[in-house]
Amino acid sequence: MSLRIVVAVKYVPDATGDRRFAADLTTDRDAVDGLLSELDEYAVEQALQIAEAADDAEITVVTVGPEDAKDALRKALSMGAHKAVHVEDDALHGTDVIGTSLVLAKAVEHTGFDLVVTGMASTDGTMGVLPALLAERLGVPQVTLLSQVSVEDGTVTGRRDGDAASEQLQASLPALVSVTDQSGEARYPSFKGIMAAKKKPVESLDLSDLGIDASEVGLGGAWSAVDEATARPARTAGTIVKDEGEGGKQLAEFLASQKFI
Ligand SMILES: Cc1cc2nc3c(=O)[nH]c(=O)nc-3n(C[C@H](O)[C@H](O)[C@H](O)COP(=O)(O)OP(=O)(O)OC[C@H]3O[C@@H](n4cnc5c(N)ncnc54)[C@H](O)[C@@H]3O)c2cc1C
Repeated sequence: MSLRIVVAVKYVPDATGDRRFAADLTTDRDAVDGLLSELDEYAVEQALQIAEAADDAEITVVTVGPEDAKDALRKALSMGAHKAVHVEDDALHGTDVIGTSLVLAKAVEHTGFDLVVTGMASTDGTMGVLPALLAERLGVPQVTLLSQVSVEDGTVTGRRDGDAASEQLQASLPALVSVTDQSGEARYPSFKGIMAAKKKPVESLDLSDLGIDASEVGLGGAWSAVDEATARPARTAGTIVKDEGEGGKQLAEFLASQKFI
């Protein structure tokens, strides 16, 4: 039977853009272009490698996000994923991680899965907790922060590298894994892959399709709220020290004045 792999990918504001909050203190997604979270490219790459090593495998990429989040799905499809699921609903505006994990869990169950692969964290929220919440909601084991991962005979095996030791971990399928940015460079989509992605199926779902009540998500359903946000002050011009024999002394004085030494 085909190995069903689902990869959760997030569409995030471009970190090089001028990111701002909207009046309701949610991310102003219209103010800046978005893209597939760079850390999720590693998740897609590992799913592709697992699928290539299997006799028969199908990769579905899933995202919860606005209309433009389809761009993230297309990128993953152009890398080689087979199909995509896009959950979009106006009521999702302001959803926190608890709500996002609920919606993703329902979407993953709707798709059917043997293995869920996620990134280690998104490049905007960077909480890194969604994989654990998702595994809990799905009722499957989680093996997180892997820098190497493989699947054989119904078992997922991986290596987690820590400061003091590397652990070899495994879990029976169905299971969830998250992979780190040390798991191996993600491939660039080929021209053929980009053209093929245009014809791959993208299923669009809303909350009613997943049987989720709008009160469980959005700003109203969020367990946390942003009370206040202050823009980071503009950078000031740096101090240039011209070394005329006293450069080292001046540098030390500067570091001492800033309490670095
Ligand atoms: C429509 C929408 C509106 C939102 N509005 C708000 C808001 O108003 N206030 C607020 O605080 N937060 C908001 N969020 C952000 C959201 O709550 C968090 O981004 C989300 O809970 C995940 O947290 P994180 O980004 O820290 O993920 P992490 O835990 O860092 O992510 C780890 C991994 O989980 C997967 N993942 C994470 N998010 C998604 C996703 N959306 N789809 C698919 N896979 C995912 C990826 O594989 C990722 O690498 C919104 C999100 C959406 C989709």
